[in-house]
Amino acid sequence: MDFRDSPAEADFRSRLRAWLTDRAGTFPAAGDDEYWARQGEWHQALYAGGFFGASWPREYGGQELPPVYDVIVDEELAAAGAPPRPSLGYLVVGLGRHASAELQQRFLPGMIDGTQRWCQGFSEPGAGSDLASLTTTATREGDDYVIHGHKIWTSYSDIADWCLLLARTDKDVPRHRGISAFIISMHQPGIEQRPLQMINGVTTEFGQVLFDGARVPASQMIGAPGEGWALAMTVVGHEREPSTLGYSARYGKLVRQMANRVSGDVPEELAWAAVETEMLRLHVRRRLSEQLDGLSHGPEGSLDKLLMTWVEQSVGHAALAVGGVDDPDLLSAYLYSRAQSVMGGTSQIQKNIIAGRILGLK
Ligand SMILES: Cc1cc2nc3c(=O)[nH]c(=O)nc-3n(C[C@H](O)[C@H](O)[C@H](O)COP(=O)(O)OP(=O)(O)OC[C@H]3O[C@@H](n4cnc5c(N)ncnc54)[C@H](O)[C@@H]3O)c2cc1C
Repeated sequence: MDFRDSPAEADFRSRLRAWLTDRAGTFPAAGDDEYWARQGEWHQALYAGGFFGASWPREYGGQELPPVYDVIVDEELAAAGAPPRPSLGYLVVGLGRHASAELQQRFLPGMIDGTQRWCQGFSEPGAGSDLASLTTTATREGDDYVIHGHKIWTSYSDIADWCLLLARTDKDVPRHRGISAFIISMHQPGIEQRPLQMINGVTTEFGQVLFDGARVPASQMIGAPGEGWALAMTVVGHEREPSTLGYSARYGKLVRQMANRVSGDVPEELAWAAVETEMLRLHVRRRLSEQLDGLSHGPEGSLDKLLMTWVEQSVGHAALAVGGVDDPDLLSAYLYSRAQSVMGGTSQIQKNIIAGRILGLK
């Protein structure tokens, strides 16, 4: 396996480096309210520069390059101290695999070029790990479905134009089979968005969304009634792969920043974080190489998610060891790392999937 850039990859990397050098000093600060407020602007700038959606279909505005180009983007953004690439690959894959050609043509270009913002309305106050128990309803009325229910932890709900929504369309069949998926406009009466403050003080990352009579055309259902579960499993499966999320480069950047600050003895937490980050970097390379060989992953995404969580939380512990509670950026990195074992499916759920679907335990 040769991890060095091919000539085309090296050319892409140097164009991106030059693009980033031209913009040095203008980046939104990563991770705070300003970053989230300007994330759309950053997404559109990356896209216009030719550095976003590199591996996605040309038909919808991507460049159909191998996924290694996305990793080059992640590495160079981290090296330049720029904010990460907004992560929405799981939504692109979800629509790409389950939506009709008509819906793909209508919605994927705006999602990829960043002119239309999206959120994912899956979790509810009583349905997170046990997503199939969701109670938001979609009731057919003429050409529309009418939505009632309560979604929570909905990332980007405050700025989203569209929501990929799961709702129950049939109560009389086994629960997984009664769920349908919709693309619903967030700009309409009957939708109330309430921000939630995160433990690190950020108020614009996610919120709760209350649906009370909001409408969605039946033509914006993805697949047939009852086919929402299959889409949900595709989306959460892809949410769990570190290679598509670019986290590995972000952790490496933080570890390097902390290493530069330390004089004298290196705290053990930082040494572990450095080792684990390098391990994740190599793991991501292996997954990429498997993807290039045409291998696609199912439940193995849960192993990736667990690994990614361990590494992020090690980096978080190192941040606390190096900065204590007095450095707001390092404290924020520690606090945010606590969310990694919950978002996209908790660590316990990943272990259940590994036990049942990979190890065959009952
Ligand atoms: C930063 C962040 C962003 C998020 N963004 C979104 C988003 O954009 N859209 C969205 O829909 N959701 C989002 N979520 C929600 C996330 O998917 C849920 O929080 C997650 O699935 C867990 O659900 P829950 O919070 O209801 O916890 P629960 O399911 O109530 O779990 C509580 C505890 O019980 C454990 N547990 C539950 N069931 C089992 C079991 N069968 N076996 C063993 N242990 C179990 C869990 O592991 C956990 O420790 C986000 C969450 C976070 C933290």
